[in-house]
Amino acid sequence: MAAPLRQFAGARRRLIEELQGKGIADLAVLKAFDDVPRHLFVPSGVQHRAYEDAPLPIGHAQTISQPWVHAKYLELLALTGRERVLEIGTGSGFQTALLTRLASQVFSIERIPALAEEARAALGACGIAHVVQRVGDGTLGWPEHGPYDAILVGAASPDVPQPLVDQLAVGGQLLVPVGGRDEQVLLRVRRTETGMTRTRLDAMRFVPLIGAHGFSS
Ligand code: SAH
Repeated sequence: MAAPLRQFAGARRRLIEELQGKGIADLAVLKAFDDVPRHLFVPSGVQHRAYEDAPLPIGHAQTISQPWVHAKYLELLALTGRERVLEIGTGSGFQTALLTRLASQVFSIERIPALAEEARAALGACGIAHVVQRVGDGTLGWPEHGPYDAILVGAASPDVPQPLVDQLAVGGQLLVPVGGRDEQVLLRVRRTETGMTRTRLDAMRFVPLIGAHGFSS
């Protein structure tokens, strides 16, 4: 990972300072951004913009999320390094890579095979080999590997997909942007000993989650 990290080192540092300026204070999260070369997760045509705090096109009508959004998700999860995590919407694989710095086991599902393959290649180029990836409908979760301490949905859902709630461990949490196709509110669902709690967090804009418990294509 050393050589890719030497490239764009100044821009990466400025992005981290920008994230701090926008309220991200969790040092482990900021360190993860320092450890992962975001420019390897975007198409070569937009590489020069990889360290802007902005979403970028990754092909197939999808985007890599804005760095602040990834940082916010990770700060909310407050991972300790021991968790089993499920990510829905691998996309570029950048957040997947960040997760490997903060949790112990990372599972990730993507519905578009070509994106899953490109993400696999980018993770490999960073020397990250321990992500378990699958192509399929992430709204169904991945019960074989559950229950999960954290589940992150990186696409907009019309409602909270019930299979994901069912696959949370006690004490586990699910982050999912819920709303219409154009604007959503980030929801946190926590599983407690006795039931569930739901908290409404920031307003967000994501591409649609398409699947059995998401939007129709
Ligand atoms: N965190 C990713 C987000 C990519 S955009 C990144 O920043 O790169 C959201 C991704 O979710 C897209 O790649 C889209 O294809 C994928 N997606 C949409 N519906 C899905 C579903 N039901 N299961 C798995 N992935 C899905």
